[in-house]
Amino acid sequence: MRNSPKLASREECMGCHACEAACPEGSITFSGKGFFTYPEVNTDTCIGCGKCEKACDYVRFGFRNDKKDFTQRFFCAHNTYAHERRLATSGGVGGALAARAIQLGWQVCGVAFDEEMNVAHIISDDAEILEKIRGSKYVQSDVAGIYAKAIASLRAGQQVLFIGTPCQCQAMSTVVPASLRSGLLTCAIICHGVNSPKVWHEYVDFIEKKKGRKLQSYNFRSKDRGWGFGIERAAVKFENSRVKYLPSWKNLFMRWFGMHYILQESCFHCPYRIEERYSDMTIGDFWGIEKLLPQEPTREGVSVLIVSTERAMEFVNGVENLSLKETSATLTPQKSLGGFTERRSESQIAAELERRQHFEEEYLKKGFVSMAAKYPPQNTLQRILYHFRYRLRQYGIVKGELKK
Ligand SMILES: Cc1cc2nc3c(=O)[nH]c(=O)nc-3n(C[C@H](O)[C@H](O)[C@H](O)COP(=O)(O)OP(=O)(O)OC[C@H]3O[C@@H](n4cnc5c(N)ncnc54)[C@H](O)[C@@H]3O)c2cc1C
Repeated sequence: MRNSPKLASREECMGCHACEAACPEGSITFSGKGFFTYPEVNTDTCIGCGKCEKACDYVRFGFRNDKKDFTQRFFCAHNTYAHERRLATSGGVGGALAARAIQLGWQVCGVAFDEEMNVAHIISDDAEILEKIRGSKYVQSDVAGIYAKAIASLRAGQQVLFIGTPCQCQAMSTVVPASLRSGLLTCAIICHGVNSPKVWHEYVDFIEKKKGRKLQSYNFRSKDRGWGFGIERAAVKFENSRVKYLPSWKNLFMRWFGMHYILQESCFHCPYRIEERYSDMTIGDFWGIEKLLPQEPTREGVSVLIVSTERAMEFVNGVENLSLKETSATLTPQKSLGGFTERRSESQIAAELERRQHFEEEYLKKGFVSMAAKYPPQNTLQRILYHFRYRLRQYGIVKGELKK
């Protein structure tokens, strides 16, 4: 029996599974009854090599820097294939990059729903993957086994494009042996936090029971009625039913997401929410684009694409169906990139973390149904008041954080 290695605490753990992937003995498993699972070490089989601790430290504190002399570049971008752009969450850049990788014969790793609506990373070099990974799923993805599969592909001589959250990209880069790293290209989404898979699962159960039908598809942010901040709506389809549109403010899951009740704790202090990116590329919604490039058509969605390495720039230049307009970093104020570098004050974070903790404890005692009744989405009056306060704050008439 050995001393347990020192991994990230519950508050620090990002759930990236780098420690598990780095362990040569399979001694680390993730478990837990709460909103997220955390690593546990089997001290009977642990050989004390320290690889898990090292991988965790690398993810938490950063080590990868392939940038050399390359100056990070910012683009306003969209997929020029109208159909793909419309079905994607932002400007469809994620899809264009993935399609280019498939065209080159690479393996692509991205996030898909399975038949039970679980959210997980998958990997394939078949074009079928493109449709499955399209669109943001606002839930922490299951990465179990994915790094090992990507490494196996790299060993077999294939290149890999990995798309995920910034911490997952960093985990991927960390666990790939240095000799294989030149075959890996990472693309991080701008991420303001991931939600609990447990709550998502129970939400799916809840809406299925209410409807009396199985959920067939769930697009968290459909663009059938346009793209823009504050007008997000889910397109929800049950078996043998028509698609229903649900604005985010009326959507229980998105409401709890917006209130940060169901986020991973470490997301509140995410070390990756900085201007200099660790991944080779970063994609996100180009919020605020109308102020920077007023002539840019936005209805079908606009992405920000940040290119951080020379190799990524070469790759991007090879993507034919991408419209790219370079904007300088100074032209891209933090506010335009919600979730990019924006941070709440420490006092606000502490208050939100306490509220989130309380929510989780109550949820685990009372269960989903009772929480749904106690913490419902906004009603119409609350929504109007929210907008009113939002405008007052926007025009500087009222200062401070906006109460949701
Ligand atoms: C949890 C989460 C939080 C986000 N927060 C912000 C934010 O605060 N600000 C912002 O500008 N953008 C945010 N985004 C990113 C944004 O929603 C789009 O995913 C991104 O702009 C890509 O859109 P696209 O149209 O280029 O690509 P699409 O073709 O829509 O592809 C989306 C890509 O995201 C990947 N993906 C989907 N779900 C997940 C997931 N759960 N975890 C990891 N990767 C996933 C897929 O593999 C796919 O490659 C967030 C996304 C997620 C999943």
